Amino acid sequence: MTCEICSDDYGISLCENDCSYLMCSDCINKLESLNCPQCRGILNIKLFVAGKITTNHPDQYTRRFVLKSEYEDFGEIKDNLRHEKCGNITINDEDIIDYDDFINLEQELPIQQIIPTTALTGPYIIVDDSCEPQHGYWQSSDYADVKPISDIVNKRNHQAIVNCDVFVLKLNIMYDCFRSIAEWGIASALGKTLIILFPDEEKVEKELDYIDTSDLDKLLKDHVDYNMKKTRQKEDDKDVKERLVKKFIKNKSDKMQSEFYMFAAESIKTLDKLSFTKKEAIFTSHPIFNITYKEYVKNLKNIISKKRPLQKEEENEE
Ligand SMILES: [Zn+2]
Ligand SMILES: [Zn+2]
Repeated sequence: MTCEICSDDYGISLCENDCSYLMCSDCINKLESLNCPQCRGILNIKLFVAGKITTNHPDQYTRRFVLKSEYEDFGEIKDNLRHEKCGNITINDEDIIDYDDFINLEQELPIQQIIPTTALTGPYIIVDDSCEPQHGYWQSSDYADVKPISDIVNKRNHQAIVNCDVFVLKLNIMYDCFRSIAEWGIASALGKTLIILFPDEEKVEKELDYIDTSDLDKLLKDHVDYNMKKTRQKEDDKDVKERLVKKFIKNKSDKMQSEFYMFAAESIKTLDKLSFTKKEAIFTSHPIFNITYKEYVKNLKNIISKKRPLQKEEENEE
């Protein structure tokens, strides 16, 4: 499992042909061309990161950006997108997709290279003509209304799923990214490697400030108020409040995660088909995974174990 170039570190396999040649990340970075030294295949892992599009912090590692290059304010919007006090997105000119190309389904769209050995095929954000995020924080009005072109958006995402190697479903705290959940089925039918990522429990409270999560925020507040009153706590007891918030989030996460046990099981199955070095390569390929393959599978197995069959109700015949 050692790197075949320096024998100094362990090697991973990035080759598109899944060949046996192993390299460490240092040696990969030093390569002059992105071709496998053994079979000349391309060293690239292509991801599609499904999940709610209208989030508050989109980035160039998980989203592709579509802008109208003919629009008079194109330059200004592009600058806003990149400015750290506005969109705070690091994106190259060649990675910005022209709206006219996007809606012309005959036109093939290039993939977005994230690092030399990792690319993003989709999905896409259609940037609104009035897009002006503040401090990297996007509002729903920064996203164009895609209802009139929803068929095109679906077809473009389908193409991008066909072009990916690894399909990642990143669930949001509301678990309401319904189209993304449907896209999992498309990726599954296409035989893609499937990965599911659950929302980070630590970040739920922070995310709750966002506009799209107001229902959940209300549920949480009601839950805390109700329990404070029920147990006759002093209204300003911060410790008790905090404990109630944590417990609510934990229960909600456990319940929602367990509902995805079939996804978890399917993900493990698709990964089982790959060599260990390929799996390692996938989990080191993208900043979205800050966890190793082994940790990922351990988490999923834990989630699967939370789902228990319904207890048969005892028959009550008297
Ligand atoms: Zn090496
Ligand atoms: Zn190769």
